[in-house]
Amino acid sequence: MSLAIHQVSKYYGKQAALENVSFRLNGGEIAGFLGPNGAGKSTLMKIATGFLAADHGFAEVNGQRMNEMNVEVRRMIGYLPEHNPLYPDLYVKEYLRFVAGMYHLGRRTKPRVDEMIERTGLTHEYKKRIGELSKGYRQRVGLAQALIHDPNVLILDEPTTGLDPNQLEEIRQLIREVGQEKTVLFSTHIMQEVKALCQRVIIIHQGHIVADGTEQMLTHDI
Ligand code: ADP
Ligand code: ADP
Repeated sequence: MSLAIHQVSKYYGKQAALENVSFRLNGGEIAGFLGPNGAGKSTLMKIATGFLAADHGFAEVNGQRMNEMNVEVRRMIGYLPEHNPLYPDLYVKEYLRFVAGMYHLGRRTKPRVDEMIERTGLTHEYKKRIGELSKGYRQRVGLAQALIHDPNVLILDEPTTGLDPNQLEEIRQLIREVGQEKTVLFSTHIMQEVKALCQRVIIIHQGHIVADGTEQMLTHDI
């Protein structure tokens, strides 16, 4: 259940999005990845999930090196992108079956989809089309999608941005529950989110890790 980032650098043209980024998350912790817009959070998360190749360095999941082509390692990770491309015309259940199909869950698809609907609190919404749902419920669908193949590590890119206060607390609660059994890395540009959700915080600024420690340091040094 570990995620290790080893000296990762990434350049877009000449511009460095990440420079020599390293950190390690061990089993069953929720870590906040905090930094302003443009700091490099999404880029690092795409590299960690195998959607993007690093120019230097590499990510490791449970001791196995991440590689875009290695389906086995990618399956250990669940990923909710910042702009999750949901299909508004599909019914919630239909969409989750489609995602399960991509992971070749076969006969496990139906029970797994039903379980995810229940665990993410979509029991009263699964007969609706995704386009009819509020942002908070769409985010639940995103969580169900990211968890459908039962990954060890969950990576959430700005999962709470733009939610109203009620939805926000419900999504936080779901993330806390997931954090009891999986390693979770979530990004945010809002310090309050880190305080609400986790002990561990990794701060990134202009592609560099500038702090890595407990969330208490947010109240003191910075
Ligand atoms: P964050 O998620 O913290 O907002 P990003 O990882 O999205 O940061 O971006 C880091 C830097 O890389 C920013 O300066 C951004 O403009 C740049 N960047 C991100 N994606 C691309 C891309 N596809 N092409 C060029 N530059 C990019
Ligand atoms: P793309 O064609 O953009 O590379 P994929 O076909 O790899 O996308 O994945 C399609 C969808 O499946 C994505 O929206 C993503 O949410 C989900 N997905 C793919 N790989 C993973 C993964 N390792 N963990 C979680 N979700 C994934």
